[in-house]
Amino acid sequence: NKELLKVEHLKKYFNTPGGVLHAVDDVSFSIRAGETLGVVGESGCGKSTMGRAILRLHEPTSGKVYFEGNDILSYDKNKMKELRREMQIIFQDPFASLNPRMTVSEAIMEPLLIQKIYDKKDKEGLQKRVHELMNLVGLAERLTNSYPHELDGGRRQRIGIARALALRPKFIVCDEPVSALDVSIQAQILNLMQDLQDELDLTYMFITHDLSVVKHFSNQIMVMYLGQMVEMAPTEVLFKNP
Ligand code: ADP
Ligand code: ADP
Repeated sequence: NKELLKVEHLKKYFNTPGGVLHAVDDVSFSIRAGETLGVVGESGCGKSTMGRAILRLHEPTSGKVYFEGNDILSYDKNKMKELRREMQIIFQDPFASLNPRMTVSEAIMEPLLIQKIYDKKDKEGLQKRVHELMNLVGLAERLTNSYPHELDGGRRQRIGIARALALRPKFIVCDEPVSALDVSIQAQILNLMQDLQDELDLTYMFITHDLSVVKHFSNQIMVMYLGQMVEMAPTEVLFKNP
């Protein structure tokens, strides 16, 4: 498979009252199309900051990010907006930052409207696409007008996944997507994400503090510590029996 994402000497520093914090400190790696890179390490080691810096949700301090060979840190606002269709993120709690008065269908519709994939007046087209996305992530159509607080964590995360998939991306940063879920639900969501990867040819960067989550799922695993990459290896090499 072709290289999809290449990151070179990525740094993200924060100015804090205590001084400059090297949250991501010179990390380089690449991911091939269709693969999953698992990113593990203890809380606070910089995983989430790295994922967000790659998507420019946090502007990197320095370094290069190439997506399909293009230097995306040189993109202006308009080109970045276009790139959002290709690169998405799934959060631990998709509704932490969403309006609680939004229904399931409104939540899934939002990216389609922001990116003007559909016109607001095209109710029929929108509803068809929303139902398609709900089916894709295993959400019953009867939940279309439910509110997120009425649903369990697993269903809420399915909505988060549907939102991320709405624009047909190639690459998704998965930032602790199952960490807030019961273990039995975790397995369901992980299976769903794996099925979607095969079906839609997705490439994942899968961030987790729990190595067991990515052990069976990643092609490669990166271990971070204090903002740096201390190890990166194919999963089977990392876990081979001595
Ligand atoms: P992880 O995802 O591995 O738990 P984070 O990327 O969230 O780690 O955090 C890495 C470090 O950067 C931590 O010390 C965290 O407190 C700090 N940090 C994260 N975001 C910010 C921010 N917006 N401003 C200042 N410091 C931050
Ligand atoms: P986002 O990327 O959506 O802004 P974050 O969790 O990175 O979300 O940060 C939310 C807010 O909290 C930001 O204003 C950020 O500056 C602040 N913040 C997050 N982590 C830290 C931290 N460790 N130290 C100081 N401020 C932080």
